[in-house]
Amino acid sequence: MMRQEKIQLIRNALVKKMGELCSRANNTICKMKNAEDRFPDPFDEATVESIKFVEFACRDRERELILDIKEMIMRIDSGLFGICDHCGRVIHINRLLAEPMSKLCVVCQKEREMHKKRKSAPLAVRDISYHYV
Ligand SMILES: [Zn+2]
Repeated sequence: MMRQEKIQLIRNALVKKMGELCSRANNTICKMKNAEDRFPDPFDEATVESIKFVEFACRDRERELILDIKEMIMRIDSGLFGICDHCGRVIHINRLLAEPMSKLCVVCQKEREMHKKRKSAPLAVRDISYHYV
């Protein structure tokens, strides 16, 4: 199968996932309305409020994911999908199939993870020594 065909498969999967997330987000709103109907007692208002809070937090995360997926679909449509954000190299199709949301190639991803780990550690002398050679 050609790379472009595989990318189309990923696109289909993303569109399907986005549909699922959207319908689940709508369900959440329905559930919230039911919860309000079921607790007319003012003493239960706190319960309703806390349910709402959790639901809103979930919806925020879902909405973020929906936006991320939308962005990936737009990238596919504009031909930018599968290109590393950092170095501009083509990301291997197997990596894209495993992790469709990846915007970095394996090398840059590893580099970024290393930087994250090293962030709090003091800069190694080896890293700066070349300035003085
Ligand atoms: Zn890269």
